[in-house]
Amino acid sequence: MSFKEIIGQETAIKILQNSLKERRRGISYLFYGPGGVGKSFTAKEFAKSLNCQQDALDSCGQCIPCLKSDKLEYPDLHWLDLKEDSQSIGIEHIRQMQSAVNFKPFEGKVKVFVINNAQALSEEAANCLLKVTEEPPADSVVILITTQLRAVLPTISSRCQKIKFSNLRRMQVEGILSRDYALDLQESSYLARYCDGKISAARALSGGDFLTRRKGILDTFSHGEGFEEFFKDKAQGKESLSILVSYFRDLMFVKAGMPAEYLINQDRFQEVIAASRLYTHSELLSLLAKLSKSFEYIDQNINLRLLTDNIWTAALRIWKK
Ligand SMILES: [Zn+2]
Repeated sequence: MSFKEIIGQETAIKILQNSLKERRRGISYLFYGPGGVGKSFTAKEFAKSLNCQQDALDSCGQCIPCLKSDKLEYPDLHWLDLKEDSQSIGIEHIRQMQSAVNFKPFEGKVKVFVINNAQALSEEAANCLLKVTEEPPADSVVILITTQLRAVLPTISSRCQKIKFSNLRRMQVEGILSRDYALDLQESSYLARYCDGKISAARALSGGDFLTRRKGILDTFSHGEGFEEFFKDKAQGKESLSILVSYFRDLMFVKAGMPAEYLINQDRFQEVIAASRLYTHSELLSLLAKLSKSFEYIDQNINLRLLTDNIWTAALRIWKK
C-alpha cells in the first residue's frame, strides 16, 4: 500500500508530501474528520514514508521499515490506541511515550508517535502530552488522530498542525467498490449512499452477505411478512434497524418532495414512492423516532422478539390500513 492508494484525501496527502519534501521533523499533526475515511491508514503510510529506505515522497512497501511498520512491529513507530475494553487513554501510556521521545531512533531516521482516538485521552494524559506536542525533538513526528476535534483539549490542538479528512465523494466510493469487490453499479451506488462516503464501512459491507440480508429484510417488509429472522442477535438487530431507518428516511424525503438524487434506496425508487403514499408525514416521523429509540433498547438487552413485534406492529398497521 502507499499514498497512491488513498482516494479522496488529496489535500491531506499533498500537505504530508510537502512535509516529506522539506524534511520537516519536530512537528505534531492532528488528523481529524469522520471515522472510516482513511485517517489511520494515512498516518501509517506517512510513518512508513518517513523511514522508508527509498527516501522518496511515498513508502515503497518493500523495505524492512515499510514491512515492519505495516505490522506495527517497527521499533521507531510507536502506535497508541484506545484499548477495546477501555473508555480512555491513561497517563501511564503517555509517560511511556514521553520516555521514548527522549531516546534516539532504534533503527530508522525518525521516531513516529501515533495516538489514535486522541479524543479519549484522559485530562491527566492530555496535560502530560502538552510538552511533547508543543516541541517534539528534531528526530520525532507526532500524529494525533480523532473523529471529534472539539473533544481534544484546545491546548493540545492549538499546538498541532491540523489536517482535515473528509468523507469521500459518492462516485469515488462507487469506483473503489466496483474495482475491489466486483459489485455492479446499482450495488456499489447503494452502498456508497448507505455508508455516506465512509469507505471503511462500505468495504466492510461489500465483502459479506449484507446486500443479500438487506434485500431479504426489505422484500419481507414490502410483502407484509414478519421479520423476526432479521433480529436474531444484537449485531444483526442493529444492522436491520439501520436498513429500516434508511428506508423510512427515504420515504420521508420523498414525502417532503426531495429529488430522487437524495435517496439512499434508489434501486427501489418506485417502491419507495408507492410506500411513501401510505404514511402521513407525522406517522413517518413517529416511526423513525421509534426505530432510533430501538437501538437503545437493543443495547439495554430488551427481548428482541418483543422489539420486532413493536416495530412491526407500528409499521405494518399503517401499511395495511
Ligand atoms: Zn520502504
